[in-house]
Amino acid sequence: MTIILRTDAFRPDLQVIKQAAQILLGGGIVAFPTETVYGLGAVVFNEEAVNKIFWAKRRPPDNPLIIHISKISMLDEVAVDIPEEAFRLIRVFWPGPLTLILNRNPKVPKLVTGGLDTVAVRMPAHPVALSLIDETGFPLAAPSANIAGRPSPTTAEHVIRDLHGRVDAVIDAGETIYGVESTIVNILSKPPVLLRPGAYLVEDIERVLGTRIIVPDYARGLRESDTALAPGLKYRHYSPETPLILVEPLSSDLSKLVDTVKELSLKYIKNGFKVCVIASKETLSNYAFNSHNVIVLSIGSRLNLFEVAKNLFKVLRSLDDLGCSVAIVEGFEERGLGLTIMNRLRKASTLKIQA
Ligand code: AMP
Ligand code: MG
Repeated sequence: MTIILRTDAFRPDLQVIKQAAQILLGGGIVAFPTETVYGLGAVVFNEEAVNKIFWAKRRPPDNPLIIHISKISMLDEVAVDIPEEAFRLIRVFWPGPLTLILNRNPKVPKLVTGGLDTVAVRMPAHPVALSLIDETGFPLAAPSANIAGRPSPTTAEHVIRDLHGRVDAVIDAGETIYGVESTIVNILSKPPVLLRPGAYLVEDIERVLGTRIIVPDYARGLRESDTALAPGLKYRHYSPETPLILVEPLSSDLSKLVDTVKELSLKYIKNGFKVCVIASKETLSNYAFNSHNVIVLSIGSRLNLFEVAKNLFKVLRSLDDLGCSVAIVEGFEERGLGLTIMNRLRKASTLKIQA
């Protein structure tokens, strides 16, 4: 049985929060909104509850969970020997979409960390998430509230579609703000390493740190991670059921990108396939072919990557209701949020080609 609880995002309904906290304290699992995507939470110290998260999501047990806290005094309960650099980032970026890799407090079950001696921790900037953690009184282990491998949920409807009957409750507070997950930085490495690009820009984090952050190929979504330092990145991710072809721009010249997408779509259409083209506002008019075998979806403006990131998972999820044989998506330049967008698109796609 899954109960659906509704509240305003900015003025959380205390009755709803108390009810959800009771479920968590009783060993249940609850999906709740954060500023990035919806999370699926359990009290971090309750192994049985944490196990339910892996079961509900069908998540492989070696893919660790992010721990969510609501106040800085909770940090010591989950992490030890915290380096000074971490506090420099925390002071500027928490609450917010920055997850830090820190040394695990032995109190945190290894089940949460996929057997690692490190933890991933963040303080979410969402009133509902913060009041839920506060009311529960414990840090919450909370990965994204989707079936493993599917696009992350940015609305409660997405969560319900994947997890109805598999979780105890879902708190519906409308659409999330960023629509992509947190930026994960391993601050224990010298120099620090980006494990996953996310809602916060690497460039901004580097500015506060005063040092460079290494951006490995796996953080760009270019290859699987083979190191124990970036677990979870080896799995299929964010994928719609419809096969997705990503066309990557090699330069800022959009005409080459448009030509490649156009050529490829027409080839499929001519062969009788129904094609979905996912394009930016600036380029979508190029695909208005005179055919009922094409659907063009807008992912947002190239001049507002915040909008593109926010729409990304929503658009990927909507694909599967449209009955297309194949979807073709335009890529973006890997700068600012473009790095995050390209990481997600590369992982979601079945084929990548260069324009
Ligand atoms: P999700 O919460 O579903 O967005 O996934 C959490 C991701 O955080 C995992 O897939 C890992 O890549 C990363 N993560 C969590 N804990 C650790 C850790 N201790 N070390 C490195 N990466 C981690
Ligand atoms: Mg996830």
